[in-house]
Amino acid sequence: MPMSFCHYYDFEIETIVKFIREIKAKKILLQLPEGLQICASEIIQLLRNAFGDLEVILSQNPSFGSCLVDEYGAIESGADAIIHIGHIEYKYYKPKTPTLFIRGAYRGIDKDKITMLLSQVCKEQQNKVTICIGTTAQHMAEIDSFVKELRNCRIVYKGIILGCIPINPSNCDNTIIIAGGKFHCVTQALYNLSLGKHISTLCIDPYTNDLWNPEKDVEKILHVRLWKVREAFEARKWLIINGFYGQHRPYLINALIERLRSLGKEYVVVKALGITRDLLDNIGAESFDVIVITACPHVAFELDDYIKPVITAGEAMMALRRDLSRYIYPW
Ligand code: SF4
Repeated sequence: MPMSFCHYYDFEIETIVKFIREIKAKKILLQLPEGLQICASEIIQLLRNAFGDLEVILSQNPSFGSCLVDEYGAIESGADAIIHIGHIEYKYYKPKTPTLFIRGAYRGIDKDKITMLLSQVCKEQQNKVTICIGTTAQHMAEIDSFVKELRNCRIVYKGIILGCIPINPSNCDNTIIIAGGKFHCVTQALYNLSLGKHISTLCIDPYTNDLWNPEKDVEKILHVRLWKVREAFEARKWLIINGFYGQHRPYLINALIERLRSLGKEYVVVKALGITRDLLDNIGAESFDVIVITACPHVAFELDDYIKPVITAGEAMMALRRDLSRYIYPW
């Protein structure tokens, strides 16, 4: 019988139970990314089987990354702890509320197919290059356990990649990102480019076992991004949107304000948890010349068809310096 969707993921129920027991939590806030929300009721049921009197509140605030641990949701609900599923702790943010991160390991990874794809790349490069591997929380331990076994391959496992924290490609000739969808792989390619180094990027999707090259996607994205940066050269009125938790980036806001002031530009700073098209419409973003998202660079990418240029913090710096010579990613 085929496994149900949720059974493809390891929610480490025993680890959660142990954590709840240790901190003697009576109420917890459960947070899952969009794609795994469907598994919430199953997880809640398993926890109820372990603790009859445990109260579980399911967070519906954004959970795109571990940068967004729903601490206000936990405080408002009187939760003793947060169970955040789908990511590992964000490098730049430590929640004050006790939080357990469960990565939600993907059980369906096909080790043989991925090994075969990696060997194929090594062979094509005649085993003369150093290939650096990055992956997401769902696959990190699994990938780490088998890439080292590859013979005739100069492979360095670089660990986890986030959309705003790519792997460090120093000493790499080639980066291979093993992740579902395009998001992480394109991110790595943009980052390699922003370092000004000729490091190629390839992508392996562990859900479909496809090996693909992001070059064309990157070219298309870059074309749009540089056009938006160019539009921002002449911008007079700037709208800056800061985020919450790990997406709260005061150092970026301060650097932008300092630069805008020195150039005599107008600006307004907004603080928002979920940055959407509706939010931009509601706050009259159309009346500004450019909108800068310091929270998450990918929000700017998703709003690339907005009526006014929506740019990342790195792109804002390029515009304020009137410098298109090197694309800056993420900031
Ligand atoms: S890419 Fe965006 S959502 Fe992902 S960790 Fe970075 S800021 Fe958070």
